[in-house]
Amino acid sequence: MKISDILKNEKPSISFEVFPPKADTGIESVRQAVEKIAELSPSFMSVTYGAGGGTSRYTLDIARDIEKRFGIPMLTHLTCVSSTRETVGEMIKKITDAGIENVMALRGDLTPELTESDRSGWDYHHAVDLVRQLRESGTDFCIGGACYPEIHPESADRREDILHLKEKVDAGCDFLTTQMFFDNNLLYSFLYKIREAGIAVPIVPGIMPITNARQVERAIKLSGSFMPQRFKSIVDRFGGDDASMLQAGVAYATDQIIDLYANGINHVHVYSMNKPQVAAGIVSNLSHILGK
Ligand code: FAD
Repeated sequence: MKISDILKNEKPSISFEVFPPKADTGIESVRQAVEKIAELSPSFMSVTYGAGGGTSRYTLDIARDIEKRFGIPMLTHLTCVSSTRETVGEMIKKITDAGIENVMALRGDLTPELTESDRSGWDYHHAVDLVRQLRESGTDFCIGGACYPEIHPESADRREDILHLKEKVDAGCDFLTTQMFFDNNLLYSFLYKIREAGIAVPIVPGIMPITNARQVERAIKLSGSFMPQRFKSIVDRFGGDDASMLQAGVAYATDQIIDLYANGINHVHVYSMNKPQVAAGIVSNLSHILGK
């Protein structure tokens, strides 16, 4: 099933993101975690893809396996930075052969080495190049793209960020998923600006439950997200105790999701980070709202 069809549903719904193991040895524990998350019957699940290849081969294996066994529509991520059109073309064929209908088209992060290297000969410079290739591949994927309520760190300003986002959507994105954010007002303001710029595709807010204090620094470094004082106080008070922080982090994420639903957003994607207890905690908190 295509995610664009799932997003037409006007009832509150939820989906979860998982990631493949970083080393081959981790595959079994990842599979177990992913299965437990699938048992919560989300509307769909996404599986991330390493920018440099690595263990990305498990991305498709996990997506195919979960879709087949649980009947959950899967969104497989695909990055293009430092790849060739040939290797990406092969991956597109594998995704098609696996029967996966949804692809998240991403550039991937530029590592310091990539940033410093000569990029003139690269086949891909931006995600829009991959979106175009997917559209030209003769397949009928539902294509997602990434967007950034607090602006992508490489963008000079909001105007430039939205200009390139519009270009990506016009190239063929069916929906956009946001980078994590911890203050819903940032999302509402972003939505207003992109709608004004003529971007009309569904926007799926991405919510990251922060469930241990160590994650906070990593999350801010990765996303550059603004941490509201209310959230900082939670980390200050409960960060020293993992069980308390888990409970508080799940509650904070739940609160964000309820506010999004209350403001007319029907679908929310949760970066569940292969943590079934986090995904289950959120679903349990929303059981009546989600009708589960
Ligand atoms: P782009 O859309 O190419 O944007 C990157 C920057 O380039 C932006 O500043 C944009 O404004 C600018 N830009 C775009 N087009 C042009 C143009 N034509 N000319 C000049 N500038 C331009 N990373 C992974 O490695 N694996 C994953 O699975 C993964 N999943 C993600 C899922 C989501 C929802 C999000 C938000 C991010 C994800 N990432 C993932 C991280 C992502 O790869 C990085 O944020 C990356 O730096 C940008 O990817 P993008 O697809 O948004 O790139």
